Amino acid sequence: MKEGKVITETELNLENSYASLPKMFFSRQSPSHVPSPKLAVLNYPLIESLGLNAKALESDDGVDILAGNRIPEGAIPLAQAYAGHQFGHFTMLGDGRALLIGEHITPIGERFDIQLKGSGRTPYSRGGDGKASLGPMLREYIISEAMNALDIPTTRSLAVVTTGESIIRERNLPGAILTRIASSHIRVGTFQYVSQWGTVEELKALADYTLQRHFKEGEDKENPYLSLLQEVIKNQAELIAKWQLVGFIHGVMNTDNMTISGETIDYGPCAFMDVYDPGTVFSSIDTYGRYAYGNQPNIAAWNLARFAETLLPLLHSDEDEALNLAQNAISNFANLYKNNWLSGMRAKLGIFNEEPEDEYLIEDLLSTMQKHGADYTNTFRALTSDNRKDTALFGATEFDKWYELWQERLARQEESKGASKQLMQSSNPSIIPRNHRVEEALEAAVTKGDYSVMERLVNALSKPHVYSKEQDYYSTLPEPSTCPYRTYCGT
Ligand code: AMP
Ligand code: MG
Repeated sequence: MKEGKVITETELNLENSYASLPKMFFSRQSPSHVPSPKLAVLNYPLIESLGLNAKALESDDGVDILAGNRIPEGAIPLAQAYAGHQFGHFTMLGDGRALLIGEHITPIGERFDIQLKGSGRTPYSRGGDGKASLGPMLREYIISEAMNALDIPTTRSLAVVTTGESIIRERNLPGAILTRIASSHIRVGTFQYVSQWGTVEELKALADYTLQRHFKEGEDKENPYLSLLQEVIKNQAELIAKWQLVGFIHGVMNTDNMTISGETIDYGPCAFMDVYDPGTVFSSIDTYGRYAYGNQPNIAAWNLARFAETLLPLLHSDEDEALNLAQNAISNFANLYKNNWLSGMRAKLGIFNEEPEDEYLIEDLLSTMQKHGADYTNTFRALTSDNRKDTALFGATEFDKWYELWQERLARQEESKGASKQLMQSSNPSIIPRNHRVEEALEAAVTKGDYSVMERLVNALSKPHVYSKEQDYYSTLPEPSTCPYRTYCGT
């Protein structure tokens, strides 16, 4: 294992606060050596915002760092321990194919985890090989960066390198490592892990660490742990509303895949909905639709209830009182979520003020979309561009009626038509990472080594609120297909 300073400085400025938590929370582990690392993608805007040096990361030494062949100065690589409810069943998990290299402190003092995903086996790998293949890592890169451009809190992707290894899946695939950036990797599952197998002191250590890292204001509150719970609930209510507003389906909302920071994490089987249908599921293993589009808010509330349970010993010395506090906090989620969703939907329709009937107007449009198999994103796109004829709804009597009611609603507010249009444009993405366009980019990159298709896609997705002709290519719908789009986990 190579160690120490690289020839040109990467400007990585690493600390390891996670390693000062009690020992049960992690296992120190070096990344596996890989034979022939090569850069596949590097995220220049992110490099800049983190204050890193692109030239140094492009160099052989830099690529060695991104591949886990070189440990940068100041790093303490470790695998984090966590548990989780997977499809409702509680299991011990942990980083089975990822390592936290350290926490990078940016020039303005922000702290971000630097994690290598696909860097080899760890004590938590169970039967897995600890590796990742190129296609899924590029897919995570594309979608996480698209989410960031949509202003949705998310982990980010700094780089993908190929390792020169062949990964054994249903067929041999090129191995790859993704460098993931997150404001932390603390999960609901991390709390479940300590709650199940740790002491109250260890639980308190994690809760205090989380407060310190994410909710500093909470530390001075009368009951800091209640404030931690409330803040996590508030952040998740905002996050899930944002997912729903753009039609993002996470696909595997297990409690280990829900962060405490409120960032979207784990882009395995996720995908964006085409036709509006609350029952939409893409994941091949989600047979019962537990994580269907329309079920995401309920599942978030369920996961948060699991989080609240872990905090009970800290919430109050009296068990009944602790339960009371937790239940009150959880019961707030539905309202918080609904308010976020409603205000987001109003904005999607160019509505500035509130009227009690707005919810009916919104629901009416959605049910008409579902009935007529209208594309979710493109319907709002067409309404924004005033191209009613472009929607699958055009000509339907219900839609004509709805349209009239909507126009009357807009006329009842003070703001001008122009202001409404602007609000709609900034609230309705003109493009999303459509499954067939993502597949096209991955196919070119993985089978032909041609990254230009992906580059163009990522570039277009970085400006989702620009309504230009160039974007049309990315907003066209896939050819009707006999088999629905399917996504897969853990590949
Ligand atoms: P995910 O579906 O990516 O959230 O992963 C669920 C759990 O499986 C986590 O503990 C992962 O670290 C682990 N895991 C996924 N793929 C692998 C692999 N190839 N080798 C070892 N562990 C894995
Ligand atoms: Mg996961």
